[in-house]
Amino acid sequence: MKFTPEKYRLPDVPMQPFIDADEIQGFLDNTISTPEKVRAIIAKSLSKKRLSLGETAVLLNTTDPDLVAEIKQGARELKKNVYGNRIVLFAPLYIGNKCMNNCSYCGFRASNKDAVRVTLSDEDIVHEIESLEDNGQKRLILVYGEHRDYSPEYIAHTVKIAYSVKKNYGEIRRVNINAAPLDIEGFKIVKDANIGTYQVFQETYHPDAYKKYHLSGKKADYNYRLVSLDRAQEAGIDDVGIGALFGLYDWRFEVLGLVRHVNHLEACYNVGPHTISFPRIKDASTLSVGHKHFVSDEDFAQLVAILRLAVPYTGMILTAREPVEIRNELLQYGVSQIDGGTKLELGSYSNNKEQTQNLNREQFRINDGRTLAEVISELMDQEMIPSFCTACYRLGRTGQHFMEFSVPGFIKRFCTPNAILTMAEYLIDYGSDENREKGWALIEKELEALPDADEVRRRIEEIRNGKRDLYF
Ligand code: SAM
Ligand code: SF4
Repeated sequence: MKFTPEKYRLPDVPMQPFIDADEIQGFLDNTISTPEKVRAIIAKSLSKKRLSLGETAVLLNTTDPDLVAEIKQGARELKKNVYGNRIVLFAPLYIGNKCMNNCSYCGFRASNKDAVRVTLSDEDIVHEIESLEDNGQKRLILVYGEHRDYSPEYIAHTVKIAYSVKKNYGEIRRVNINAAPLDIEGFKIVKDANIGTYQVFQETYHPDAYKKYHLSGKKADYNYRLVSLDRAQEAGIDDVGIGALFGLYDWRFEVLGLVRHVNHLEACYNVGPHTISFPRIKDASTLSVGHKHFVSDEDFAQLVAILRLAVPYTGMILTAREPVEIRNELLQYGVSQIDGGTKLELGSYSNNKEQTQNLNREQFRINDGRTLAEVISELMDQEMIPSFCTACYRLGRTGQHFMEFSVPGFIKRFCTPNAILTMAEYLIDYGSDENREKGWALIEKELEALPDADEVRRRIEEIRNGKRDLYF
Protein backbone atom coordinates (compact mmCIF):
# COMPACT_ATOMS: atom_id res chain seq x y z
CA MET A 1 0.00 0.00 0.00
CA LYS A 2 1.33 3.41 -0.97
CA PHE A 3 0.16 6.46 0.90
CA THR A 4 -0.56 9.57 -1.13
CA PRO A 5 1.13 12.39 0.76
CA GLU A 6 -0.44 15.82 0.95
CA LYS A 7 1.71 18.82 0.21
CA TYR A 8 2.51 21.15 3.10
CA ARG A 9 4.78 24.16 3.38
CA LEU A 10 7.69 22.24 4.83
CA PRO A 11 8.33 19.31 2.50
CA ASP A 12 8.52 15.86 4.05
CA VAL A 13 12.19 14.95 4.02
CA PRO A 14 13.48 12.19 6.31
CA MET A 15 15.03 13.58 9.49
CA GLN A 16 14.07 17.15 8.63
CA PRO A 17 11.63 19.20 10.76
CA PHE A 18 8.14 19.28 9.32
CA ILE A 19 6.07 21.45 11.67
CA ASP A 20 5.27 24.95 10.44
CA ALA A 21 3.40 26.55 13.35
CA ASP A 22 1.95 29.38 11.24
CA GLU A 23 0.63 26.94 8.69
CA ILE A 24 -1.07 24.86 11.39
CA GLN A 25 -2.51 27.96 13.04
CA GLY A 26 -3.66 29.06 9.57
CA PHE A 27 -5.74 25.89 9.20
CA LEU A 28 -7.38 26.61 12.54
CA ASP A 29 -7.99 30.29 11.81
CA ASN A 30 -9.23 29.96 8.25
CA THR A 31 -11.43 26.89 8.37
CA ILE A 32 -15.15 27.10 8.92
CA SER A 33 -17.28 24.25 10.13
CA THR A 34 -20.64 23.72 8.41
CA PRO A 35 -23.01 20.74 8.81
CA GLU A 36 -22.43 19.75 5.16
CA LYS A 37 -18.67 19.80 5.52
CA VAL A 38 -18.68 17.93 8.83
CA ARG A 39 -20.93 15.20 7.46
CA ALA A 40 -18.87 14.78 4.29
CA ILE A 41 -15.68 14.51 6.36
CA ILE A 42 -17.18 11.91 8.71
CA ALA A 43 -18.31 9.94 5.64
CA LYS A 44 -14.78 10.09 4.19
CA SER A 45 -13.34 8.73 7.40
CA LEU A 46 -15.94 5.95 7.54
CA SER A 47 -14.82 4.97 4.07
CA LYS A 48 -11.42 4.31 5.68
CA LYS A 49 -9.50 7.31 4.41
CA ARG A 50 -7.20 9.38 6.60
CA LEU A 51 -8.16 13.03 6.88
CA SER A 52 -6.03 15.95 5.72
CA LEU A 53 -5.08 18.79 8.09
CA GLY A 54 -7.74 21.03 6.53
CA GLU A 55 -10.45 18.42 7.04
CA THR A 56 -9.34 17.72 10.61
CA ALA A 57 -9.44 21.47 11.29
CA VAL A 58 -13.10 21.57 10.24
CA LEU A 59 -13.91 18.98 12.92
CA LEU A 60 -11.77 20.84 15.46
CA ASN A 61 -13.65 24.08 14.77
CA THR A 62 -17.02 22.43 15.31
CA THR A 63 -18.80 23.79 18.38
CA ASP A 64 -22.47 23.14 17.63
CA PRO A 65 -23.40 20.43 20.19
CA ASP A 66 -25.50 18.47 17.66
CA LEU A 67 -22.61 18.34 15.19
CA VAL A 68 -20.16 17.40 17.94
CA ALA A 69 -22.56 14.56 18.78
CA GLU A 70 -22.40 13.49 15.11
CA ILE A 71 -18.60 13.48 15.25
CA LYS A 72 -18.68 11.25 18.33
CA GLN A 73 -21.25 9.00 16.67
CA GLY A 74 -18.99 8.75 13.61
CA ALA A 75 -16.07 7.71 15.81
CA ARG A 76 -18.28 5.14 17.55
CA GLU A 77 -19.34 3.67 14.22
CA LEU A 78 -15.78 3.54 12.89
CA LYS A 79 -14.60 1.81 16.03
CA LYS A 80 -17.45 -0.73 15.90
CA ASN A 81 -17.33 -1.47 12.18
CA VAL A 82 -13.60 -1.54 11.82
CA TYR A 83 -12.07 -2.68 15.08
CA GLY A 84 -14.80 -4.73 16.74
CA ASN A 85 -14.84 -4.99 20.50
CA ARG A 86 -11.30 -5.97 21.51
CA ILE A 87 -9.26 -3.91 23.93
CA VAL A 88 -5.55 -4.63 24.27
CA LEU A 89 -4.21 -4.54 27.84
CA PHE A 90 -0.75 -3.64 29.10
CA ALA A 91 1.05 -2.33 32.18
CA PRO A 92 3.72 0.34 32.58
CA LEU A 93 6.87 -0.53 34.52
CA TYR A 94 9.01 2.40 35.64
CA ILE A 95 12.65 1.31 35.62
CA GLY A 96 14.35 4.51 36.78
CA ASN A 97 13.35 8.10 37.51
CA LYS A 98 16.68 9.87 37.46
CA CYS A 99 16.45 12.71 34.99
CA MET A 100 18.68 15.44 33.63
CA ASN A 101 15.86 17.44 32.04
CA ASN A 102 13.60 20.07 33.53
CA CYS A 103 10.16 19.59 32.01
CA SER A 104 8.01 21.87 34.15
CA TYR A 105 5.05 19.44 34.17
CA CYS A 106 6.92 16.36 35.42
CA GLY A 107 7.65 15.24 38.98
CA PHE A 108 10.90 13.61 37.83
CA ARG A 109 12.53 16.82 36.60
CA ALA A 110 16.10 17.41 37.72
CA SER A 111 15.33 20.52 39.76
CA ASN A 112 12.73 18.72 41.90
CA LYS A 113 14.78 18.00 44.99
CA ASP A 114 11.77 16.40 46.73
CA ALA A 115 11.65 13.53 44.24
CA VAL A 116 12.86 10.23 45.64
CA ARG A 117 15.23 8.89 42.96
CA VAL A 118 15.20 5.17 42.34
CA THR A 119 16.66 2.92 39.66
CA LEU A 120 15.54 -0.69 39.96
CA SER A 121 18.34 -3.22 40.31
CA ASP A 122 18.29 -6.27 38.01
CA GLU A 123 16.93 -8.25 40.93
CA ASP A 124 14.21 -5.66 41.56
CA ILE A 125 13.22 -5.84 37.90
CA VAL A 126 12.90 -9.61 38.11
CA HIS A 127 10.66 -9.30 41.18
CA GLU A 128 8.52 -6.66 39.53
CA ILE A 129 8.09 -8.77 36.40
CA GLU A 130 7.21 -11.85 38.43
CA SER A 131 4.48 -9.89 40.21
CA LEU A 132 3.18 -8.53 36.92
CA GLU A 133 3.14 -12.05 35.48
CA ASP A 134 1.31 -13.30 38.60
CA ASN A 135 -1.44 -10.83 37.77
CA GLY A 136 -1.67 -12.12 34.21
CA GLN A 137 0.16 -9.34 32.36
CA LYS A 138 1.78 -10.22 29.01
CA ARG A 139 2.58 -6.82 27.55
CA LEU A 140 4.64 -4.12 29.24
CA ILE A 141 5.90 -0.66 28.54
CA LEU A 142 9.16 0.11 30.29
CA VAL A 143 9.57 3.78 31.26
CA TYR A 144 12.77 5.70 32.01
CA GLY A 145 13.82 9.26 32.83
CA GLU A 146 16.46 10.80 30.60
CA HIS A 147 19.80 10.21 32.27
CA ARG A 148 23.31 9.15 31.34
CA ASP A 149 22.76 5.96 33.39
CA TYR A 150 19.96 4.92 31.04
CA SER A 151 22.07 4.31 27.95
CA PRO A 152 20.79 2.31 24.98
CA GLU A 153 22.85 -0.63 26.28
CA TYR A 154 21.20 -0.34 29.68
CA ILE A 155 17.71 -0.08 28.15
CA ALA A 156 18.45 -3.16 26.01
CA HIS A 157 19.71 -4.99 29.10
CA THR A 158 16.47 -4.29 31.02
CA VAL A 159 14.36 -5.38 28.03
CA LYS A 160 16.23 -8.68 27.91
CA ILE A 161 15.59 -9.23 31.62
CA ALA A 162 11.89 -8.57 31.08
CA TYR A 163 11.70 -11.21 28.34
CA SER A 164 13.72 -13.73 30.33
CA VAL A 165 11.54 -13.89 33.45
CA LYS A 166 9.11 -16.83 33.36
CA LYS A 167 7.02 -17.69 36.38
CA ASN A 168 4.66 -20.66 36.17
CA TYR A 169 2.74 -20.04 32.95
CA GLY A 170 3.68 -16.35 33.10
CA GLU A 171 5.83 -14.64 30.52
CA ILE A 172 6.14 -11.21 28.96
CA ARG A 173 5.61 -11.39 25.21
CA ARG A 174 5.98 -7.80 24.19
CA VAL A 175 8.11 -5.08 25.74
CA ASN A 176 7.48 -1.54 24.54
CA ILE A 177 9.64 1.43 25.52
CA ASN A 178 8.96 5.00 26.59
CA ALA A 179 12.32 6.67 27.01
CA ALA A 180 14.41 9.56 25.81
CA PRO A 181 14.97 9.87 22.06
CA LEU A 182 18.15 8.13 20.95
CA ASP A 183 20.53 8.58 18.05
CA ILE A 184 20.42 6.06 15.20
CA GLU A 185 23.12 3.87 16.75
CA GLY A 186 21.24 3.85 20.06
CA PHE A 187 17.97 2.89 18.38
CA LYS A 188 19.77 0.00 16.65
CA ILE A 189 20.97 -1.28 20.02
CA VAL A 190 17.50 -1.34 21.56
CA LYS A 191 16.01 -2.78 18.38
CA ASP A 192 18.33 -5.76 18.72
CA ALA A 193 16.82 -6.45 22.14
CA ASN A 194 13.59 -7.16 20.28
CA ILE A 195 11.51 -4.28 21.54
CA GLY A 196 7.95 -3.73 20.42
CA THR A 197 6.95 -0.08 20.02
CA TYR A 198 9.31 2.82 20.81
CA GLN A 199 7.28 5.76 22.09
CA VAL A 200 8.41 9.38 22.18
CA PHE A 201 5.84 12.10 22.88
CA GLN A 202 6.49 15.54 21.42
CA GLU A 203 4.58 16.94 24.44
CA THR A 204 3.62 20.10 22.52
CA TYR A 205 3.98 20.60 18.78
CA HIS A 206 4.05 24.39 19.23
CA PRO A 207 7.74 25.42 19.12
CA ASP A 208 7.40 28.53 21.34
CA ALA A 209 5.28 26.76 23.93
CA TYR A 210 7.78 23.88 23.84
CA LYS A 211 10.58 26.29 24.70
CA LYS A 212 8.67 27.59 27.70
CA TYR A 213 8.20 24.17 29.32
CA HIS A 214 11.65 22.75 28.49
CA LEU A 215 14.12 25.25 29.77
CA SER A 216 17.21 23.08 30.10
CA GLY A 217 18.59 19.63 29.41
CA LYS A 218 18.76 17.71 26.15
CA LYS A 219 15.02 17.74 25.80
CA ALA A 220 15.09 21.52 25.28
CA ASP A 221 15.94 20.85 21.61
CA TYR A 222 12.51 20.79 19.92
CA ASN A 223 13.73 19.61 16.52
CA TYR A 224 15.91 16.80 17.86
CA ARG A 225 12.84 15.40 19.55
CA LEU A 226 10.53 16.08 16.61
CA VAL A 227 12.48 13.86 14.23
CA SER A 228 13.49 11.24 16.80
CA LEU A 229 11.12 8.68 15.37
CA ASP A 230 12.60 9.31 11.92
CA ARG A 231 15.89 8.18 13.46
CA ALA A 232 14.12 5.15 14.89
CA GLN A 233 12.88 4.33 11.38
CA GLU A 234 16.37 4.81 9.95
CA ALA A 235 17.57 2.32 12.57
CA GLY A 236 14.97 -0.21 11.43
CA ILE A 237 12.36 0.31 14.16
CA ASP A 238 9.20 0.63 12.12
CA ASP A 239 6.91 0.35 15.11
CA VAL A 240 6.79 3.76 16.77
CA GLY A 241 4.36 5.64 19.00
CA ILE A 242 3.70 9.38 19.00
CA GLY A 243 1.88 11.54 21.53
CA ALA A 244 1.14 15.01 22.84
CA LEU A 245 0.70 16.05 26.45
CA PHE A 246 -2.61 17.88 26.50
CA GLY A 247 -2.73 21.01 28.65
CA LEU A 248 0.49 22.65 27.48
CA TYR A 249 -0.99 24.48 24.49
CA ASP A 250 -4.27 24.77 22.54
CA TRP A 251 -5.62 21.22 22.16
CA ARG A 252 -6.75 21.94 18.62
CA PHE A 253 -3.22 22.82 17.59
CA GLU A 254 -1.87 19.64 19.17
CA VAL A 255 -4.35 17.45 17.28
CA LEU A 256 -3.20 18.98 13.99
CA GLY A 257 0.43 18.52 15.11
CA LEU A 258 -0.24 14.81 15.67
CA VAL A 259 -1.95 14.42 12.29
CA ARG A 260 0.94 16.25 10.61
CA HIS A 261 3.37 13.88 12.35
CA VAL A 262 1.39 10.90 11.05
CA ASN A 263 1.52 12.11 7.49
CA HIS A 264 5.22 13.00 7.78
CA LEU A 265 6.04 9.41 8.79
CA GLU A 266 3.81 8.04 6.05
CA ALA A 267 5.37 10.32 3.45
CA CYS A 268 8.96 9.48 4.44
CA TYR A 269 8.72 5.84 5.51
CA ASN A 270 5.43 4.66 4.07
CA VAL A 271 4.27 3.62 7.51
CA GLY A 272 2.38 5.72 10.03
CA PRO A 273 2.88 5.41 13.79
CA HIS A 274 1.61 2.25 15.42
CA THR A 275 -0.03 4.19 18.24
CA ILE A 276 -1.03 7.68 19.31
CA SER A 277 -1.15 8.71 22.99
CA PHE A 278 -2.95 11.79 24.29
CA PRO A 279 -2.21 12.11 28.01
CA ARG A 280 -3.72 15.04 29.87
CA ILE A 281 -1.51 16.71 32.47
CA LYS A 282 -2.12 15.36 35.94
CA ASP A 283 -1.02 16.59 39.32
CA ALA A 284 2.70 16.06 39.97
CA SER A 285 5.19 16.96 42.67
CA THR A 286 5.83 20.72 42.57
CA LEU A 287 3.89 21.00 39.31
CA SER A 288 4.31 24.40 37.69
CA VAL A 289 2.05 24.57 34.67
CA GLY A 290 -0.78 27.12 34.48
CA HIS A 291 -4.41 26.31 33.71
CA LYS A 292 -4.63 28.36 30.53
CA HIS A 293 -4.71 25.34 28.24
CA PHE A 294 -6.51 22.95 30.56
CA VAL A 295 -8.58 20.51 28.50
CA SER A 296 -12.08 19.92 29.87
CA ASP A 297 -13.66 16.45 29.84
CA GLU A 298 -15.97 17.54 27.04
CA ASP A 299 -13.18 18.86 24.85
CA PHE A 300 -11.16 15.75 25.64
CA ALA A 301 -13.96 13.47 24.40
CA GLN A 302 -14.28 15.56 21.24
CA LEU A 303 -10.55 15.45 20.54
CA VAL A 304 -10.38 11.69 20.98
CA ALA A 305 -13.31 11.21 18.60
CA ILE A 306 -11.65 13.57 16.07
CA LEU A 307 -8.34 11.71 16.30
CA ARG A 308 -10.15 8.41 15.69
CA LEU A 309 -11.71 9.82 12.55
CA ALA A 310 -8.55 11.62 11.38
CA VAL A 311 -6.24 8.58 11.59
CA PRO A 312 -8.62 5.64 11.31
CA TYR A 313 -5.93 2.92 11.22
CA THR A 314 -3.71 3.99 14.12
CA GLY A 315 -3.95 2.39 17.57
CA MET A 316 -5.04 4.78 20.33
CA ILE A 317 -3.83 4.51 23.93
CA LEU A 318 -5.59 5.87 27.01
CA THR A 319 -3.86 5.37 30.36
CA ALA A 320 -4.81 5.26 34.03
CA ARG A 321 -4.10 8.98 34.23
CA GLU A 322 -7.82 9.24 33.49
CA PRO A 323 -10.63 8.20 35.86
CA VAL A 324 -12.78 5.14 35.18
CA GLU A 325 -15.82 7.04 33.84
CA ILE A 326 -13.77 8.93 31.26
CA ARG A 327 -11.96 5.77 30.22
CA ASN A 328 -15.22 3.90 29.78
CA GLU A 329 -16.71 6.67 27.68
CA LEU A 330 -13.64 7.07 25.49
CA LEU A 331 -13.36 3.34 24.82
CA GLN A 332 -16.43 3.77 22.66
CA TYR A 333 -14.80 6.43 20.50
CA GLY A 334 -11.96 4.28 19.37
CA VAL A 335 -9.40 3.80 22.13
CA SER A 336 -7.81 0.43 21.41
CA GLN A 337 -5.29 -0.04 24.26
CA ILE A 338 -5.50 0.65 27.99
CA ASP A 339 -3.31 -0.19 30.97
CA GLY A 340 -4.70 -2.20 33.86
CA GLY A 341 -3.50 -2.62 37.45
CA THR A 342 -1.11 0.31 37.00
CA LYS A 343 1.26 1.35 39.79
CA LEU A 344 3.69 4.18 39.17
CA GLU A 345 5.81 4.11 42.31
CA LEU A 346 9.07 2.38 41.47
CA GLY A 347 9.18 -1.15 42.88
CA SER A 348 5.55 -1.15 43.95
CA TYR A 349 4.27 -4.12 41.95
CA SER A 350 6.27 -6.55 44.06
CA ASN A 351 6.15 -4.95 47.49
CA ASN A 352 2.40 -5.50 47.68
CA LYS A 353 1.80 -2.06 49.10
CA GLU A 354 -1.26 -0.12 48.10
CA GLN A 355 -0.43 2.88 45.88
CA THR A 356 0.78 5.50 48.32
CA GLN A 357 -0.17 8.37 46.00
CA ASN A 358 2.96 10.01 47.36
CA LEU A 359 3.81 12.38 44.55
CA ASN A 360 7.48 12.51 45.48
CA ARG A 361 7.68 8.86 44.50
CA GLU A 362 5.60 8.97 41.31
CA GLN A 363 5.80 10.88 38.07
CA PHE A 364 2.21 12.14 38.36
CA ARG A 365 -1.05 11.13 40.01
CA ILE A 366 -3.09 8.38 38.41
CA ASN A 367 -6.87 8.37 38.67
CA ASP A 368 -7.76 4.78 37.95
CA GLY A 369 -6.51 2.52 40.74
CA ARG A 370 -8.35 -0.63 39.64
CA THR A 371 -6.54 -3.95 39.64
CA LEU A 372 -6.09 -5.76 36.32
CA ALA A 373 -8.80 -8.23 37.39
CA GLU A 374 -11.21 -5.37 38.04
CA VAL A 375 -10.44 -3.73 34.68
CA ILE A 376 -11.01 -7.06 32.91
CA SER A 377 -14.24 -7.64 34.80
CA GLU A 378 -15.61 -4.24 33.81
CA LEU A 379 -14.53 -4.63 30.18
CA MET A 380 -16.42 -7.90 30.02
CA ASP A 381 -19.49 -6.20 31.56
CA GLN A 382 -19.38 -3.90 28.53
CA GLU A 383 -19.03 -6.94 26.25
CA MET A 384 -15.49 -6.00 25.29
CA ILE A 385 -12.89 -8.74 24.90
CA PRO A 386 -9.74 -8.10 26.90
CA SER A 387 -6.81 -9.07 24.69
CA PHE A 388 -3.16 -9.80 25.43
CA CYS A 389 -2.51 -10.69 21.80
CA THR A 390 1.03 -10.31 20.45
CA ALA A 391 0.63 -12.47 17.34
CA CYS A 392 1.17 -10.02 14.49
CA TYR A 393 4.38 -8.64 15.78
CA ARG A 394 5.80 -12.07 16.49
CA LEU A 395 4.79 -13.40 13.08
CA GLY A 396 6.35 -10.40 11.35
CA ARG A 397 2.96 -8.99 10.37
CA THR A 398 4.05 -5.44 11.05
CA GLY A 399 1.89 -2.42 10.49
CA GLN A 400 -0.65 -4.45 12.41
CA HIS A 401 -3.28 -1.81 12.86
CA PHE A 402 -3.16 -1.02 9.23
CA MET A 403 -3.86 -4.63 8.35
CA GLU A 404 -6.68 -4.93 10.83
CA PHE A 405 -8.12 -1.96 9.17
CA SER A 406 -7.60 -2.60 5.52
CA VAL A 407 -7.49 -6.35 4.94
CA PRO A 408 -11.06 -7.62 4.61
CA GLY A 409 -11.90 -10.23 7.25
CA PHE A 410 -8.60 -9.75 9.08
CA ILE A 411 -10.24 -9.10 12.44
CA LYS A 412 -12.50 -12.14 12.22
CA ARG A 413 -9.73 -14.39 11.00
CA PHE A 414 -6.93 -13.25 13.30
CA CYS A 415 -7.67 -10.58 15.88
CA THR A 416 -10.83 -11.90 17.50
CA PRO A 417 -9.63 -15.55 17.67
CA ASN A 418 -6.29 -14.41 19.11
CA ALA A 419 -8.00 -12.14 21.63
CA ILE A 420 -10.20 -15.08 22.67
CA LEU A 421 -7.21 -17.42 23.03
CA THR A 422 -5.27 -14.96 25.21
CA MET A 423 -8.40 -14.31 27.25
CA ALA A 424 -8.88 -18.06 27.72
CA GLU A 425 -5.30 -18.33 28.97
CA TYR A 426 -5.93 -15.50 31.39
CA LEU A 427 -9.13 -17.04 32.73
CA ILE A 428 -7.53 -20.45 33.21
CA ASP A 429 -4.29 -19.20 34.78
CA TYR A 430 -5.33 -16.11 36.71
CA GLY A 431 -9.12 -15.66 36.59
CA SER A 432 -11.23 -15.19 39.72
CA ASP A 433 -14.39 -17.32 39.92
CA GLU A 434 -16.46 -14.29 38.98
CA ASN A 435 -14.28 -13.41 35.98
CA ARG A 436 -14.26 -17.01 34.80
CA GLU A 437 -18.02 -17.18 34.84
CA LYS A 438 -18.40 -13.92 32.92
CA GLY A 439 -15.46 -14.65 30.64
CA TRP A 440 -16.48 -18.08 29.40
CA ALA A 441 -20.00 -16.80 28.72
CA LEU A 442 -18.56 -13.93 26.67
CA ILE A 443 -16.21 -16.27 24.77
CA GLU A 444 -19.14 -18.53 23.94
CA LYS A 445 -21.08 -15.57 22.56
CA GLU A 446 -18.11 -14.39 20.48
CA LEU A 447 -17.52 -17.89 19.10
CA GLU A 448 -21.07 -18.06 17.78
CA ALA A 449 -20.25 -15.17 15.44
CA LEU A 450 -16.90 -16.56 14.24
CA PRO A 451 -16.46 -18.43 10.96
CA ASP A 452 -13.62 -20.56 12.33
CA ALA A 453 -15.10 -21.30 15.73
CA ASP A 454 -14.28 -25.04 15.69
CA GLU A 455 -10.57 -24.41 15.33
CA VAL A 456 -10.66 -21.83 18.13
CA ARG A 457 -12.54 -24.29 20.37
CA ARG A 458 -9.93 -26.94 19.59
CA ARG A 459 -7.16 -24.59 20.64
CA ILE A 460 -8.97 -23.60 23.84
CA GLU A 461 -9.05 -27.30 24.66
CA GLU A 462 -5.29 -27.45 24.08
CA ILE A 463 -4.84 -24.54 26.50
CA ARG A 464 -6.91 -26.40 29.09
CA ASN A 465 -4.51 -29.31 28.58
CA GLY A 466 -1.48 -27.16 29.33
CA LYS A 467 -0.42 -25.62 26.00
CA ARG A 468 0.20 -21.89 25.93
CA ASP A 469 0.87 -19.09 23.47
CA LEU A 470 -1.29 -20.36 20.62
CA TYR A 471 -2.14 -17.87 17.92
CA PHE A 472 -3.25 -17.47 14.32
N1 SAM B 1 11.72 10.75 30.07
C1 SAM B 1 11.19 10.30 28.83
C2 SAM B 1 10.58 11.43 28.06
O1 SAM B 1 10.37 12.48 28.61
O2 SAM B 1 10.31 11.23 26.88
C3 SAM B 1 10.25 9.21 29.11
C4 SAM B 1 8.89 9.51 29.30
S1 SAM B 1 8.13 10.28 30.60
C5 SAM B 1 8.58 9.32 31.96
C6 SAM B 1 6.55 9.76 29.97
C7 SAM B 1 5.58 10.81 29.56
O3 SAM B 1 4.84 11.19 30.70
C8 SAM B 1 6.10 12.12 29.04
O4 SAM B 1 6.44 12.03 27.67
C9 SAM B 1 4.95 13.07 29.30
O5 SAM B 1 4.11 13.21 28.17
C10 SAM B 1 4.16 12.38 30.40
N2 SAM B 1 4.04 13.20 31.60
C11 SAM B 1 5.01 13.87 32.23
N3 SAM B 1 4.50 14.57 33.26
C12 SAM B 1 3.16 14.34 33.29
C13 SAM B 1 2.09 14.79 34.11
N4 SAM B 1 2.26 15.65 35.12
N5 SAM B 1 0.84 14.34 33.84
C14 SAM B 1 0.64 13.49 32.82
N6 SAM B 1 1.60 13.03 32.02
C15 SAM B 1 2.86 13.45 32.24
FE1 SF4 C 1 12.53 13.74 32.64
FE2 SF4 C 1 10.77 12.68 30.90
FE3 SF4 C 1 9.97 13.81 33.19
FE4 SF4 C 1 10.91 15.33 31.28
S1 SF4 C 1 9.04 14.05 31.15
S2 SF4 C 1 11.48 15.49 33.44
S3 SF4 C 1 12.47 14.03 30.41
S4 SF4 C 1 11.17 11.97 32.98
